[in-house]
Amino acid sequence: MKLSTFKKGLHPEDYKYLSQDQAIETLPPPDDVYIPVQQHIGTPCEPLVKKGDRVKTGQIIADSSAYVSAPVHATISGTVKDISKYYHPLGMRETMIHIQRDGEEEWEYLEPIDDWKWTPKEKLLKTIRDAGIVGLGGATFPTHVKLAPPDDRAIDSFILNGVECEPYLTADDRLMVEEADKILLGMSIMMHILDVQKGYIGIENNKPGAIARMQKRVVELGYPFKMVPLKVKYPQGAEKMLIYSVLRRKVPCGKLPMDVGVVVNNVATAYAVAEAVTEAKPLIQRVITVTGDGVKQPKNLMARIGTPFKELFNVCGNVKDNVNRIFMGGPMMGMTQYHLESPVVKGSSGIVAVTGDLVEELTTFPCIRCGACVLACPMNLLPLRLSKFGQENMAGELEDYGVSNCIECGCCAFACPANIPLVQWIRVGKLRLREHQAKTAKEKA
Ligand code: SF4
Ligand code: SF4
Repeated sequence: MKLSTFKKGLHPEDYKYLSQDQAIETLPPPDDVYIPVQQHIGTPCEPLVKKGDRVKTGQIIADSSAYVSAPVHATISGTVKDISKYYHPLGMRETMIHIQRDGEEEWEYLEPIDDWKWTPKEKLLKTIRDAGIVGLGGATFPTHVKLAPPDDRAIDSFILNGVECEPYLTADDRLMVEEADKILLGMSIMMHILDVQKGYIGIENNKPGAIARMQKRVVELGYPFKMVPLKVKYPQGAEKMLIYSVLRRKVPCGKLPMDVGVVVNNVATAYAVAEAVTEAKPLIQRVITVTGDGVKQPKNLMARIGTPFKELFNVCGNVKDNVNRIFMGGPMMGMTQYHLESPVVKGSSGIVAVTGDLVEELTTFPCIRCGACVLACPMNLLPLRLSKFGQENMAGELEDYGVSNCIECGCCAFACPANIPLVQWIRVGKLRLREHQAKTAKEKA
């Protein structure tokens, strides 16, 4: 069978064999959780509880009145010990609510929905918002916003994203093998909200178990969804790449999937939507892959949000002595971790510990103008130029060369024989362009 894919990109070694066959293990509620008040793209939440308050599992503990935002819930029952700055997986210290467990688990559920097919769409969207659901593939954009595109965007297709193209990660893979029914139910609910008839399921061919299970349940349950097995290529899980692979539609630079009539959602997000709408459960836990050659027993864990990473490693036999680097989210787009007290957040799809055998300390050389970065870039950008403009703070050029279209996939840096940290400089460039734009707007005002 000819497999579909997108243009450019690359094939990093995937190391998925380390955890692909490990069934999801549900961890018991931890004694302490540290829950960041912001875990999404959009307006930050404000704490709604104070030190000393008793909270139930599922209770909203931080929220915002802004539309582009998502509330945060207590993930264990217990007492608020503190609201303070703690280490966050993104590298800085952020406001978190520390809850200490006090024995019996008591739940606060969402308002139940009797039959979602007969429930007004506004109420379904409210339930998804109240559940705190965001894109669990790592993007963390609030799902209720994504499922309510403006009226002038005609959405005709929904793509379920089961690609999980980052090396090492197998959380989505296992979820599809073990929870296909709930994922398909979540997909149906989202398509119902969007009033879309055409549904596609994109899964890369290195997940034969997930493809077989999802295909079998689609047929047995009578869903009209089309399975689209995809050739393995990074970064196919990025929305624009996936839309091209599945539908051959190109999302122009500066435009969004909804501009070409498509909404994409990740399989873990679909699972969370099904739990919220049919079981009244808010988002308090997620599947996270704990893996890498530096982990003694790689696993896929269902862990409460707020659980410190060090506890996940404990369950996996801990890390080996020669661990060289730890990432949250995978080696291509993930963030290097320096503090294992940092907690699982909504966007934590994996935590990967690698040894010195796999991570070399690289010497950087001058650019030899080989063009490998350009050939690898799936967004057709000129990474070499953008990196230079970022280093030299050239805001006008950064804008002209489309730095904001960079999806920070890391293909350019991976392909560069001179080991130039291209994507890191491009990130700096994006920051400098934003600062320049803010300054210009202020001067004009
Ligand atoms: S420039 Fe951006 S989009 Fe292009 S390869 Fe580099 S990180 Fe990826
Ligand atoms: S891949 Fe590296 S060496 Fe080659 S052109 Fe790009 S920046 Fe220069």
